[in-house]
Parts: sequence; structure tokens; C-alpha cells
Amino acid sequence: MKKQLFITRKLPSHIIEPLHTYYNIVEWPEEEVVMPREKLLAAVKDCEALWVTLADQVDAELLAYAPNLKIVSTLSVGFNNIDMNALRGRGIIATNTPDVLTDTTADLVFALLLATARRIPEAERYLREGKWQGWYPLQLVGKDVGGATIGIIGLGRIGQAVAKRALGFDMKVLYHNRNRKLAEEERYGFHYRALEDLLQESDFVVVMTPYSKETEGLIGERELALMQEDAVLINVARGGIVNETALYDALKNNKLWAAGLDVFEQEPVALQHPLLTLPNVVALPHIGSASLQTRTAMMNLNVQALLAYAQGETILNRVDRY
Ligand code: NAP
Repeated sequence: MKKQLFITRKLPSHIIEPLHTYYNIVEWPEEEVVMPREKLLAAVKDCEALWVTLADQVDAELLAYAPNLKIVSTLSVGFNNIDMNALRGRGIIATNTPDVLTDTTADLVFALLLATARRIPEAERYLREGKWQGWYPLQLVGKDVGGATIGIIGLGRIGQAVAKRALGFDMKVLYHNRNRKLAEEERYGFHYRALEDLLQESDFVVVMTPYSKETEGLIGERELALMQEDAVLINVARGGIVNETALYDALKNNKLWAAGLDVFEQEPVALQHPLLTLPNVVALPHIGSASLQTRTAMMNLNVQALLAYAQGETILNRVDRY
């Protein structure tokens, strides 16, 4: 008998095709709109398998509505949308999509780093708004990336991919991590720093840790005050790791030079968000892993996990064991 699978977003039919052999699939029919919570709670009633995005919270409340749930697969490497304690209490499996998005996300970190350093969105607005009267020496001058010091907080898969890109720009690479990465220090010349020292020494600070109770608000008023006044903060990890009010104040009061943000405390970000009023903020709608190849590879990992579960085989990328 086929198992019940609910998918919280409309996905390409050729991607989910292999699942039809094992599952009766019900999908939320919208591609762009996040499923309203009450509809999600109603939809999981009979499902044994659930495929979610990072916008869907899988918590004790949802589990209470899903008595038959056995596996949750999230279309993201970050799994802060899943309450692991609640899952473990019921022995529910959870999987994510690591590795396949590492390079694409590291590319976006660098895109934001270059865009903030060289004021690219601001310069493009200037041109398109008809303000360009001609060339002058201090017109839209930015910061050099080549030879600068980058400080990476969270030297995991993506953090390391960012660090390797930084070496190509002759940057000095500092990092802060829970556990020291001695092999990477030796092989690539990365330098470990205490968080405070990294913040003080870096021209570019990149936040690349997972979002957890431990990292919530990791970069707040005190940490931003430690940064150099002409430094740049890049956050492609999760919005809640950086205190947005403190970041706004630091940018507004010239205590920080610029910020590049792919993630926000509340997503989608409201158009009235104070950070969007600042010219020295480059803001993106959470597109870190958004290349067609990478998103396809991520969805294929979800499919593999759901197939392995249905076939009773070893399930890869389990995160319920963390
Ligand atoms: P990862 O390989 O697990 O790396 C995370 C790193 O952060 C690990 O090295 C970990 O250290 C370190 N870390 C954890 N807590 C820390 C703390 N309190 N202080 C310092 N370091 C800490 O994960 P990843 O694949 O690189 O992904 C990182 C995060 O990026 C994801 O969780 C996700 O939220 C985010 N992300 C965002 C996008 C986007 O579209 N914007 C795309 C992909 C990923 P240990 O080695 O000691 O555990």
C-alpha cells in the first residue's frame, strides 16, 4: 500500500516523479506563496512523510496534528525550522540537503561581499536614476577586497568554501568556530581567532553558523561595536543570528561601513524594514542556494531520502541524530 506524502510547495513534476511508485502525493498548489499555518496543520493529518521548506515550522504543535508522521525532509541545509527534540520524542526521522549547495552559497557570499565593498547596487541605481553627470575621482568610491582581512564565523562547509575563495583574492583569512580546524589552518593558512579578536581585526565579517539557541543574537550591539567603523558585515546564514536593530543603529550612526544580507529575522522582509532604507545595505531575498543546478540537486536529495525510507534502505543526510 502506498504511503501518504505531503509537500508544502509546488515542485517540478519531473523531480517528484520517482516518488509516485511509493507515495500518494498531495502538494500545496502554490509555487511562490508560503502555506498558511492553519492549512499546513490540517494537511498533515494523514501523512507519513512530509517534505517542507525552511519557511515551514515543524514543531510539537504540528506533530500533534500528524499522528502518523515518520519522516520529515527539508529543502535546505539549515534545519532550524524543525524542532529536533519534538521529533526525537516520537522517533521521527529528519533529513536535509547538505554539500550540494555549498559552492553556490559561498559564491553568493562573495557576490554580496563585492557588491557591498564596491557599492554596486548603489552605483547602478545612480546610473539608472539619471544622476551620472560624468567621471570624477571620488565618485562612488568603495573598499578594496583584494588583500583585505576576512573573518568567517562558522568555518563549516560553506565557511570553508568562502575562505578558499578569499585566498584567490589574496585575503588574510581569520575564522572563529566552536571547534578549531587545525588541518585547515595548516593546509590553507587560516588563522583561528576568539570572536572578539576576529571582529576587531576583520575588514569583512561573514556570519556562516547554523541558527540555534547558541547562535541566536550572536552578533549584537556589543559585537558590532567591536568591529572597525569601515568594516562590512555579511550574513547569508540566518537572520536571527544578527540583531537587526543593533545592526541598523550601527550602520545609521556610521559605526559600520556596510552590510550585505541574504537573510532576515522575519522573511519575507517587509518593504518598510528600516534596514532597507539605508543605501549601504545590500539586501537579497534569501537566494543563497538559488542556482537551477543546485536547487535541482537539493530536491533530488529530498527525493533520495524519501525513496530510501519507503524502500527500507539507509537514509542519508539524517539530522535527527544531532
Ligand atoms: P555546517 O557545515 O554545519 O557549518 C556550520 C559551522 O558553524 C560549523 O563549523 C560549526 O562548528 C560552526 N558553529 C556552530 N555553532 C557555532 C557557534 N556558536 N560559534 C561558532 N561556530 C559555530 O553548515 P553549512 O552547510 O556550512 O551551513 C551553515 C548555515 O548556512 C546553515 O545552517 C544555514 O542556516 C545557512 N545557509 C543559508 C543559505 C542561504 O540561502 N542563505 C544557504 C545555505 C546555508 P563545529 O564544526 O564546531 O560544529
